[in-house]
Amino acid sequence: MEAVKRIALVAHDNRKSDLVEWVIWNHTVLLQHQLVCTGTTGRLVEEALINTLRSDDNPEPAVEITRLKSGPLGGDQQLGAMIAEGRIDFIIFFWDPLDSHPHDVDVKAVLRIAVVYNIPMACNRATADYMISSPLMRTAYIPHNEDFTAYVERKIG
Ligand code: PGA
Repeated sequence: MEAVKRIALVAHDNRKSDLVEWVIWNHTVLLQHQLVCTGTTGRLVEEALINTLRSDDNPEPAVEITRLKSGPLGGDQQLGAMIAEGRIDFIIFFWDPLDSHPHDVDVKAVLRIAVVYNIPMACNRATADYMISSPLMRTAYIPHNEDFTAYVERKIG
């Protein structure tokens, strides 16, 4: 994992305002990295960052965010594929523990695959605070990844 990290930001609807507030609070750090969001989260995060950066000197700030599809429309699956392909370094996923969602299986799949590939992942704000204030944010970091060779080459039958 390089010093510039590919950070995924996702929040369920009831957690979006919390995530947006967290993003604004941490925008200086976050903007040093590459941001990837599911669709609606990305729209809100982009708007919030533009509003935060806008000034008389910079009336139209550019904010670069990779926006996937909306979560329930496949965005979580796209994110899961990016994790499996080694294209995500860090995940902030504020999922809602008090509501059910049509795409629960997709959410579970993201959480699972992130654990498989040992990706740091915050599912609440306190963990996100700890992660973003880690000294490892500013350095290259090589996570210990399990060797899956034995699993891939296992004998069947
Ligand atoms: P959304 O998706 O950002 O498009 O709302 C998030 C999710 O529910 O996974």
